[in-house]
Amino acid sequence: MGRRIIITGVPGVGKTTVIEGALKKLEEEGIAYRSINFGSFMFDVASREGKVKDRDQMRKLDRGIQKELQRMAGKAIAAIEGNVIIDTHCSIRTPQGFLPGLPEWVITELEPDMLILVETDEDQILQRRLKDPTRIRDMEGGKSIGEHQQFNRMIAGAIATQTGCTVKFVKNQDFLLEQAVLDMAESLR
Ligand code: AMP
Ligand code: MG
Repeated sequence: MGRRIIITGVPGVGKTTVIEGALKKLEEEGIAYRSINFGSFMFDVASREGKVKDRDQMRKLDRGIQKELQRMAGKAIAAIEGNVIIDTHCSIRTPQGFLPGLPEWVITELEPDMLILVETDEDQILQRRLKDPTRIRDMEGGKSIGEHQQFNRMIAGAIATQTGCTVKFVKNQDFLLEQAVLDMAESLR
């Protein structure tokens, strides 16, 4: 049986960057993980069906459609064997409020061993969002980003009690990416 690790964090915190760094380190040690982006699984279906043109449009879709995409992605990912990292979100900010990224019917299929929250100060996340031209990030103040991170911690606690997984916090602070990468790699060993 492989290990299944879920990695979450608010948009712009640098999840994908930290994951890539950690996987490179582990590869040198002969430890292999398949890295899966939950949103990409959803986007494949949503774009094929002509529902969205870019991945940042998905959180604006009707809640029922997002749930259906989520369910399909969860099923497909649950079927993947071996060591797996799932890059996703505890909650998604939608116009109707926070949508749980891993509701009960998704998380019980995924059966994670560990849930990692990548976090840093909200001001740093705000700056990173402003500097990233590749994504269409929502305009949001620092305080609101802080509240989103707080809410994600509560959801992480709920997921831990539902599944028995452990919860780990990895700080990805400015100028300290290497520390975050080492910390993440250590969690995956
Ligand atoms: P990301 O590239 O991780 O920021 O994800 C892009 C988009 O995919 C997000 O803005 C969400 O719309 C969607 N997404 C990713 N993971 C989930 C999830 N677990 N549940 C619902 N939507 C998700
Ligand atoms: Mg990402």
